[in-house]
Amino acid sequence: MKITRKEFLSFSGKIILGAPILNSLFLKPSSALPLSETLNSGDVMIEVKIKRLNLVHTWTISRNSSDFKENVFVKLEKDGIVGYGEAAPNVRYGENAQLTVQRIHEAESIYHSTDFFHYMDIKEKLDNTILDQSCAKAALDIALMDWIGKAFGVPLYKLWGLNTSHAPVTSFSIGIDTPEVIKQKVKEAEPYPILKVKVGTKRDEEIIGAVRSVTDKPIRVDANEGWKSKEEALEKIQWLKTQGVEFIEQPLPSDMIEETAWLRERVDMPIIADEAVKTAADIPKLAGAYDGINIKLMKSGGLLEAWRMIQIAKALNLKIMLGCMIESSIAISAAAHLAPYVDWADLDGNLLISNDPFSGVKVNKGKFIYNDKPGLGVEGEF
Ligand code: MG
Repeated sequence: MKITRKEFLSFSGKIILGAPILNSLFLKPSSALPLSETLNSGDVMIEVKIKRLNLVHTWTISRNSSDFKENVFVKLEKDGIVGYGEAAPNVRYGENAQLTVQRIHEAESIYHSTDFFHYMDIKEKLDNTILDQSCAKAALDIALMDWIGKAFGVPLYKLWGLNTSHAPVTSFSIGIDTPEVIKQKVKEAEPYPILKVKVGTKRDEEIIGAVRSVTDKPIRVDANEGWKSKEEALEKIQWLKTQGVEFIEQPLPSDMIEETAWLRERVDMPIIADEAVKTAADIPKLAGAYDGINIKLMKSGGLLEAWRMIQIAKALNLKIMLGCMIESSIAISAAAHLAPYVDWADLDGNLLISNDPFSGVKVNKGKFIYNDKPGLGVEGEF
């Protein structure tokens, strides 16, 4: 019997699968995309899909380079209400799409045994169940908070008690490239008032020079752990200071906390931790070495942990940046709902892809445009 791809997807989306079958499915190579299963038990339904997000430009940072990303999407349904979530697996943290799908399914029973309104109980259970692939936790947490917002009939920013007019404008990221392409990217980024430029290479001067040859906008710089000694980082930051750079993100490898403290005493530029901080538990040891932290939902494991991180960072007088991976409008909108509570936003992941399957919080000249739909306020084809 021959079935069309559409029929196959529709069929595969309806079958109820047992764990052994799932395990074999998850180990399929990513070329078998898209992957889709529905687990239906009682009145809770969790659907998981991998989607390929194509990048407008090849995305290069000091660690690696890619033309597309495979993100994992979650649809959580109960009582006729649907919540959407997303995971953006990141190789830096040992994550991939197949393992992420597996972790989501391993945590699935929590949603069958816990009242959704006891979402803090669900967070604790998730923290005890998913010990790697924090992005899998993020997908489930985002989907649940979307569901909660919809159940209460309010946008998430209202649930948090936040004033959207306080949200900082988002920066727009410029990945590592040839000077000609960098100039082109900066021109394409014309609507965005602040740029974030990736460095951490042997040709940082050339990269910044290319940016500065076409714009005098404020720039923020991310070395992604690319400089390997405190002396090299000191020299680079002193030079960047002459180039109108506002702050530097993760100049040294994440484990070089003492060296970063040494650096901080010698430079007149805020130093922000990114790779050095994933969850709230990482924050206290960074106070003194860093001026601020970059919170990302994929590292924290979702919105509830990000909320906790914001509270702790504020208590320690650390600046707070809200960042992202390459993500669709689901995860970007989720983070944007927290943006009114932070100092800096770098939520441009959905602007770097050409086939965003969803729309939600939008951006105009760097400013977030929130809608008043409940939950994440996201729509699209799952
Ligand atoms: Mg970073």
